[in-house]
This record gives sequence, C-alpha cells and structure tokens, in this order.
Amino acid sequence: MTNTTKQALKQSICAAIDRNAERIIALGERIRRQPELGFKEFKTARLAEETLAELGLKPRAGLAITGVRAEVAGAKDGPTFAMLGELDGLVVQGHPIADPETGAAHACGHNAQMAGLLGAAMGLLEAGAPAHLAGRLVFFAVPAEEYGDVEWRVAQARAGRIEFLGGKPELLRLGHFDDVDLAMMIHTTSAPETRKAGVAASNNGCIVKTVRYLGRASHAGGAPHMGVNALYAANIGLMAINALRETFRDEDSIRVHPIITHGGSQVNVIPGEVRLETYVRGKTVEAILEANRKVDRALRAGAMAMGAKVEIETLPGYLPLFNHMGMADLFKANAAACLGADEVTETGHRSGSTDMGDISHVMPTLHPYMGGAVGSGHGADYAIADPKVAYVEPAKQLALMAVDLLWDDASGAREILRTWTPRMTREEYLAFQRSVSRTELYEG
Ligand SMILES: [Zn+2]
Ligand SMILES: [Zn+2]
Repeated sequence: MTNTTKQALKQSICAAIDRNAERIIALGERIRRQPELGFKEFKTARLAEETLAELGLKPRAGLAITGVRAEVAGAKDGPTFAMLGELDGLVVQGHPIADPETGAAHACGHNAQMAGLLGAAMGLLEAGAPAHLAGRLVFFAVPAEEYGDVEWRVAQARAGRIEFLGGKPELLRLGHFDDVDLAMMIHTTSAPETRKAGVAASNNGCIVKTVRYLGRASHAGGAPHMGVNALYAANIGLMAINALRETFRDEDSIRVHPIITHGGSQVNVIPGEVRLETYVRGKTVEAILEANRKVDRALRAGAMAMGAKVEIETLPGYLPLFNHMGMADLFKANAAACLGADEVTETGHRSGSTDMGDISHVMPTLHPYMGGAVGSGHGADYAIADPKVAYVEPAKQLALMAVDLLWDDASGAREILRTWTPRMTREEYLAFQRSVSRTELYEG
C-alpha cells in the first residue's frame, strides 16, 4: 500500500467524482429517458455493463435476467462490500417521461441510483482506492425492485425463468450475494423533511397477492339471474378489507392497497372473472401474516355473498428493512462533512417496502435516502430537480462508505461483522419466503 491518509484518500475520491460530474449526470439523465420495467431493464443493464467495462472492470451480466455485477479486489484479503443501484422504473399513469409502449417511468428515482453507483465506481477507481483497501468492492446493478407487473412475473415463474418475483430475493436465491458481507444503496427522495441526506430506522415489509373471483357469465340485460357477478363479489371483498382497517394497530403500520387488474369482459356480459392484486404491508413479519389472514377472510366473504369462487394466491414479497445503525453513523458523518450537518436527518419507520429489507436480514445493510427530487414518489409529478444532489452526491457517499469499511485492513467492516448476528441465514431466508407461497380456492 502506498502512503496516504484515510482523509486524503476520501478527498481524492470526491475530487475524482467531481471531475466526472458531467458524465455521471449524463448517465442519470439518459436512464431517466429510457425507463424500463423490472426484469426487462435490458438497455439500462447494457449501459451499466458498458460503463463498468470502460472503467477496466469485467462485469458479469444477465444475473437474475438483467443484473450486472463487477468487482475489484483491494490490496489485501478482507470482507466484501457491495454497492447497489436499482435498474427499474414503474408504471405511473400520466407521467410525462414514460415509455409510450410499456408505460414505464422513473417515478421512484432509480435512474439516480444507477448514476450514483456508476459514479462511485469512477471515483474509487480513478483515485486508485483499491490499492489502499482490504477486501473487495462490488458494484451491483440489480433488477426489479418495484414489485408490479405481477401477472407477467408469475408467468415467468411458471416458465421457470425466475422463482421469486423481486430482484434481490432472486439474486439471493441464485447465490449472487453469497460472497458479499455488507451492502449499501442510496435511494433518492423527494421528501423535503429528509433534506439532502437521511436515514430511517426501518421500512415495512410486504407480501403480495393475486386474487381471481370466478362467477358465471350471462346476458347482462336478458338473463342476469343466470349469472354470478364476479365484480360484485370482488366489490364485497374490497369493502370487507376496508372494514377491517379499524382493526389494524398503528404500531404495525399495516398497508393494504388492492387494485382491479381485470374488471369484466364486456359491458353487456355479467362479469364471469375479475382479477385483483394487492400487497399486505407491515412493520414486522408477524403483523404482516396476521393482517394477511384477515385479508383472506375478507376476500372469501365476497365469494360467499355472491355464490362465486375466489382463488387467492399469496406470493412472497419483501421483508422489513432494518438499517445497520453503525453503518448509518458512518453515513451521517460523511454526509455531514460533504453537505453540512443541518442537511442530514434521521427519521423513524417508513411504510413503503423495499427488497433491500431482504438483504438486511442476511447481512449488515444500509439504505439511506438522499434528496434532489421533487414531486410525489410513484407520482406523475416526480422529477429530478437538483442533478448534483440526486446523481453526484450519492456517488460520493457510496464511495466514502467503502473507504470507512475497508480502510486499515478493513477494521471498520470487521468490527461491524464481529458484533452482528444475521436475522436469518440465507437458507432460513429462502425457506421463509417459500413458506409464504400458497394458493387457495374458496367456493362461496
Ligand atoms: Zn418505488
Ligand atoms: Zn424505489
């Protein structure tokens, strides 16, 4: 190792990232304009692969369909730290920069994650950081965090192309995190109260459900008495879910938000089939499973009232996220040094879900938020307002964390790992997710 101080290395990484700022911003903007849905992010994955290869790395592509992973070894052996960026967009009605064919839009700012990830690689490599670090750095572009497009994903699973319907669960299943010891990604936020950088204590987990009400089609004018109206059965199921809401405890942070994905075949036919999707989110696995039992009961009630059938498919979703507070402290210190202490915030529990929660069960994980966006997350008005804060500053924060963890024979990472107990082993994780899967056909 050449002679430098940790502080000097951090400064030269930040300077390298600043020199690359235009390139990093251009990547973030290019990805913003080519939004793709999960497990279909082929253009974005190709761009990540090309950019990592231009930096002299040897990325491997096609991991869980579209994931791209590259790594670089430090001067000595030690723990492996993975920096993640999510590749996907989601369908948001009316978003001005949506793909005209798929409806995909970057209304969650994942384009900024990709810019930050690639920028971190630029800074660390251009500053020659690996020569001063122990262990390995992994740059990982990961697919399909937004858990939507469910019918298509279920079809992919039936065809054997995936098992789990989210990107990180699938990467965990395939073993692409088996050699990773710690992980971090930075999510863009438009919440003004987070300011430029913030860490939440935890996030909701979720399970995902598809629901199919099966009635009997008949002439809507001439013979409705011959039919069984699957739409009304679904309506009663939805009303029953709404009636349950007063039983959800505030501290469990339950969110149930069904949509109708198919409401009938045509207007002069009594709907013979109606399809719904929903999540059941909550702060703990126990709370999610308890709410899920109630939701199943409510869904059955719709079938019972109408004499219809309901097929309820419960799919593994994402586990609750627990940020590692030691990594959070390192992040807050770096962010305060770069952005000013009054730009760094701490918040409590968040009711959204992320498959970084799954990662947080098997290794020390950090999922902070950084600003630069405006509008409503998952809304049509979501936009990047400050490209430097959204695209360039996260690159610095990922890279600075790498130094804090892997400097000095990786003493920072080793200390975190020494005192950390996994919430689940990888095997327990896979077993739990598989235990969630079930399909029930209820005949009302
Ligand atoms: Zn999102
Ligand atoms: Zn997101």
